[in-house]
Amino acid sequence: MTEHTWGRVREELQQEMGRDAFNNWIKPLELIGHEDGVARFSVPTNFFGDWVARNYGDRIREGLTKGGCAVDRLDFTVSKAVRKQDDTAQRNGVGKVQAFSGNGAAKNDGPAEAELPGSKLDPRFTFDSFVVGKPNELAHAAARRVAEGGPVTFNPLFLYGGVGLGKTHLMHAIAWEIRRREPGARVLYLSAEQFMYRFVQSLRFKDMIGFKEMFRSVDVLMVDDVQFIAGKESTQDEFFHTFNALVDQNKQIVISADRAPGEIDGLEDRIKSRLQWGLVVDLHPTDYELRLGILQSKAEAQLKYYPDVRLADGVLEFLAHRISTNVRVLEGALTRLFAFASLVGREVTLEVAQECLADILRASDRKVTIDEIIRKVADHYNLRLSDMLSPRRARSVARPRQVAMFLSKMLTSKSLPEIGRRFGGRDHTTVIHAVRKIEELKAVDSQIAEDVELLRRMLEA
Ligand code: ADP
Ligand code: MG
Repeated sequence: MTEHTWGRVREELQQEMGRDAFNNWIKPLELIGHEDGVARFSVPTNFFGDWVARNYGDRIREGLTKGGCAVDRLDFTVSKAVRKQDDTAQRNGVGKVQAFSGNGAAKNDGPAEAELPGSKLDPRFTFDSFVVGKPNELAHAAARRVAEGGPVTFNPLFLYGGVGLGKTHLMHAIAWEIRRREPGARVLYLSAEQFMYRFVQSLRFKDMIGFKEMFRSVDVLMVDDVQFIAGKESTQDEFFHTFNALVDQNKQIVISADRAPGEIDGLEDRIKSRLQWGLVVDLHPTDYELRLGILQSKAEAQLKYYPDVRLADGVLEFLAHRISTNVRVLEGALTRLFAFASLVGREVTLEVAQECLADILRASDRKVTIDEIIRKVADHYNLRLSDMLSPRRARSVARPRQVAMFLSKMLTSKSLPEIGRRFGGRDHTTVIHAVRKIEELKAVDSQIAEDVELLRRMLEA
C-alpha cells in the first residue's frame, strides 16, 4: 500500500522537479518502512538525508498523506550497502562525469558510478532534429557557431527562455556536434543542479582539488538551468571561479537559464555582469509557424513507428493554433494522438484530435470567446454584427462569416453545433463547410491567409 503510494508520489515529483533533480535526490531514496505515522527511508549519506528533508520533506509527507498513508514524520537512515558504494565513490574521486565526451562513450567504470549523477546527452537532441523559426533563429545560429569550434568569439554563450523552448535541446546539439567533429575534445555538459551536487560532494569528501582540476581541464563547459544556483552562495562562488578560470584559458562556456542574467534574483552582481560579457540570446515563445514546423517534423518521425496512422488535413494546423508555446506539451499531444490512432485504427480527424486531447486543449485554452471572434471579424471587414448572424449569403458577408466560424473552431473548444448556434442558429454542417472552405482558400488566396493570421494574432494577444 505505502509502496504503491510512494511510487505515485515519486512520479509526481519527477514531473515537478525535472529529471536531473529527481535522479539526484529522489531516485536514490528507498522506502524501508511506514508505521505510526513515520515513513522511513534509506539514503546514501547523512548529508543526503538532511538535504532531502529540508528541500523536499514537506512535499513527500503531503504526497504520502494525500495518497492515504498518513505520515507526520520522515526518517532517513544511512544504509550500509549504500555506504559502501559511497566509499568507492570517494576512492574514485567525485570528479567523474558521465556526459564527458572524449573517447566517445560515457565513462562508466565501477558500481559507484551508477550512484553518481551525470547528465547523459539525449540522442534525439541534435541540430538535425531542431526546427528553426523566427523565435529561435538567433539562438540556433549562435549555437551552431559555437559547435563549429574555431576561435572563441563570444564567451559565454548565454541562452535563455521559458520552459520547453529548446534550451536543453540546443545545448545537447552543441555537445553532439563538437563530439562528432573533434572526438578528442573534452566537452562537459551538466545541469547547474549537478554542478552543485558535485561541489557539495567534493566538499564532503574533501576533494576540492579533484573537483577544481576536473572542471578546469575541460575544453567546453556547458551548464544548464543556471538559475538553480541563485541564492546558493558557496556554489555560486565556486561556479564563478570555475567560470573565470576557463574564460582565462579561452575555453568556451555555454550557459542556459530561464531568464536573462540580470533578472535572476539571488545571483551575485559580479556573476550577473560576468554572464553578460559574451553573447546573450533568448529563445522567444514559439509562434504558429514554428509550432507547425515542429509538429510536421515530429509527425514525420512518429510515422516511422506508426506507419498506418493517417492524420486528416488540418489536424496539425489545429494543434499549432491551440497548444501553448511549450514545445514539450506539443510533443506530448502528438505522441498521444499517434498512440491513440494506432490503437483504434481510425483516421485522426479534427474531432478525434479534440476528443483525445481534451484535457491538454482545455489547459492551454486561450479563453477566446465566439463573441469576441465575431466582433473582431466584423470590425476587420467593416460589417455590422447583425450581418455576421444574418441569413444573407452575399459573398461580402458570407466569406467573413466563414472566417469567423473557422477561427471559432480553431481558437475555442466549442463543438460544431454550438458554433453553428452562435452564428444565427446555423447547422453544424454549415460550420464544417466553412472550416473546409477557409482551409482551402488559405492555401491559394494570400489575402485570406493574411486576414486569418492577422485576426488570430489580434484575438490571441
Ligand atoms: P528547455 O530546456 O528550454 O526547457 P527542451 O530543450 O527540453 O526545453 O525542449 C523541450 C522539448 O521540445 C524537447 O523534446 C525538444 O526536443 C523539443 N523542442 C523544443 N524546441 C524545438 C525545436 N525548435 N525543434 C524541435 N524540437 C524542439
Ligand atoms: Mg532544459
